[in-house]
Amino acid sequence: MSGNETRLRAINAVTSRSPVPASSPGGPLSEIWGCDVFNLATMEESLSKNAFKAMKAARQTGAPLDSATADVVAAAMKDWAIAKGVKFFSHIFYPLTNITAEKHDGFIVINSDGHAITEFTGSLLIKGEPDGSSFPNGSLRTTNAARGYTSWDPTSPAYIMHTANGATLMIPSVFMSWTGESLDKKIPLLRSSAAMSRSAERVLALMGETDIEPLNASCGAEQEYFLVDSYFAHSRPDLLLAGRTLFGAPSPKGQEFDDHYFGVIPERVQVFMQDFEDKLFRLGIPAKTHHNEVAPGQFEIAPYFESANVAADHQQLMMTIMQTTARAHGFDCLLHEKPFAGLNGSGKHVNWSVGNSTQGNLLDPGGTPAENLHFLVFCGAVIRGVHLYGPLLRAVIASASNDHRLGANEAPPAILSIDLGEHLEEIFNDIKKGNSSVLREDDTMDLGLAEILPFSRDPGDRNRTSPFAFTGNRFEFRAVGSSTSVAGPLVAMNTLLADSLDWVADRLEDQLKAGTSRIQAVAAVLKELMELHSDVIFAGDGYSEEWHREAEARGLRNLPTAADALPVLMEDDVVSLFERTEVLSPVELESRFEVYAEQYIMSIGVEARTTVELAKTSLYPACMSYLSHLAGTIHQASTLDIDLDTTTVRAISAGTDAMLAAANELAEAIGFDDFDTIQSNMRYCADTIRPLMEKVRMHADRLETEVADEYWPLPKYREMLFIK
Ligand code: ADP
Ligand code: MG
Repeated sequence: MSGNETRLRAINAVTSRSPVPASSPGGPLSEIWGCDVFNLATMEESLSKNAFKAMKAARQTGAPLDSATADVVAAAMKDWAIAKGVKFFSHIFYPLTNITAEKHDGFIVINSDGHAITEFTGSLLIKGEPDGSSFPNGSLRTTNAARGYTSWDPTSPAYIMHTANGATLMIPSVFMSWTGESLDKKIPLLRSSAAMSRSAERVLALMGETDIEPLNASCGAEQEYFLVDSYFAHSRPDLLLAGRTLFGAPSPKGQEFDDHYFGVIPERVQVFMQDFEDKLFRLGIPAKTHHNEVAPGQFEIAPYFESANVAADHQQLMMTIMQTTARAHGFDCLLHEKPFAGLNGSGKHVNWSVGNSTQGNLLDPGGTPAENLHFLVFCGAVIRGVHLYGPLLRAVIASASNDHRLGANEAPPAILSIDLGEHLEEIFNDIKKGNSSVLREDDTMDLGLAEILPFSRDPGDRNRTSPFAFTGNRFEFRAVGSSTSVAGPLVAMNTLLADSLDWVADRLEDQLKAGTSRIQAVAAVLKELMELHSDVIFAGDGYSEEWHREAEARGLRNLPTAADALPVLMEDDVVSLFERTEVLSPVELESRFEVYAEQYIMSIGVEARTTVELAKTSLYPACMSYLSHLAGTIHQASTLDIDLDTTTVRAISAGTDAMLAAANELAEAIGFDDFDTIQSNMRYCADTIRPLMEKVRMHADRLETEVADEYWPLPKYREMLFIK
């Protein structure tokens, strides 16, 4: 195959596609909703009263099941699953990479007569044993804890995954070493919820509440993604290996008309979305909104919010199902934060709040003075946490791919600040000034907070340039990348809130002991908090240059790359935060730093090698063929005394040489591997490898606009984005 044949074939194939009917057409929502989930209703039907009660308690508290109950639950789960055609079961868990891991086992046991019988005991339900050493675990590898085991997390229900040839019972699990260290993303999330709940209960009690249920965080994540036809994706080795285009001149038309954003959803895409959402409904995942996004070929899906732990599992599952369902519809679903240069990238806005069944959502200003007061304290605690641990929030969203998005002119900057909205900022500023009209001694204060609610909830009013914004009854962490697990951001938010609530509780305790009234005590603590931490509040344009300067003056750190941000995980205040709150031990935290740093280095390694290979084996030959054609023609013409213009041939010849030289320089740079520390290796990737890749790309993209179309081998931006 030569020239642009691959491209033409792909274009032809894409053009003749039609929408694919769903493999398992869904019935009405009431029939399919949660039908593949072993949920409370199913358990109530199939378990004895006592077993059901024990199970319900375990779901609420996360406490392990006793072995008798586990046996009963396992038997009921097995019968339910087998009746639905299941032959296998699998613990599903979330190792430190962004992937989901599974180890499948049959229900089958061969008895002494040689007959196959089905068996599933409580201990099989509770404990699985994948090979721990084959998952990245950073420094935990060096301890004798390489073996790992999985254990069912009863707060997240089991469910069934169907394939064309069968079905598997999936058991959401934690993954830990034999010595009890967390090797996954779920354990810290559960621990961070518990820490937040402990500290929140302390504060609420000091504020006079007596009936306080355990608190939990809630999470609703808005997921952006791109769809590219598989025929195109498969002719782009960079999309296949790196998840983003490493080359590609801008399309003459991009996103400037917003015609994709506001247009109708293309039919093939709608068919995909409906199929995908039916699958989510069967698993009890509350998909609610879907729409086109700003860039051509970009879309968003937002499920309704759920408790953080279940939402994190569902989010992970959703990413998997999106990708497999897209394949069935002839698309590659790109979750990369920046698949196309020059177009908007993809994020995952993590909406987060905390609450319980007795006091409700504590980040909702509410309509009564007491609710207002709770809200101010919790919101204040978030302000303090983000000010102190902004760099941690930056670190938990750091990846090679999110580096392309943060700080570009479309996504929040790599500086963490909070946007409270005008009204709320005013109220907090009044508190800082000690303005007594805000908090009064009597119980009749009216902060006007009820009005903030509808106001801040109006999306039109929101400052899209803020990485962390209050949106009426929750915070929205907008700097999170589209491919990132929500677990890391949730852990960071829960933990910094826990720490701040403890700080508040210590001060409230002192004030109350000294005989100050509750409202005055809260006012005093919030005043001190604002004096220390109001610098993190910023409502202006986060994209602007002035903000970068101003943020620096305020002492807010700008951590532009993952190489800058990840080492924050090893800084003393962060290590101490996680240790104090019992969310991650220092060795657990260190292992995370190491795994994420390795991931960063490996991702850039793959990109760099793909860049060299494509430049040398695909683009260079294309340029040389065209050059040879041009040069031949010009030479022939000169024998006839015709002087043809040589600017193009000269430009291409110079550009081709420059691209080759840059590719060779990059190839040599990749060869260097003498690093003292993993930090210096990361720096090298950020400061040396990435710029060299950019250099190769710059020459290649220029050549793309000069070389005759019939010679260009890679599908072009305009084709991938606009041919549907
Ligand atoms: P918008 O698009 O204007 O940001 P949406 O109504 O699409 O707002 O909501 C975005 C996400 O926020 C949804 O997933 C929604 O369920 C979630 N959300 C709403 N309230 C809360 C809350 N209290 N806690 C966590 N997430 C929430
Ligand atoms: Mg939103």
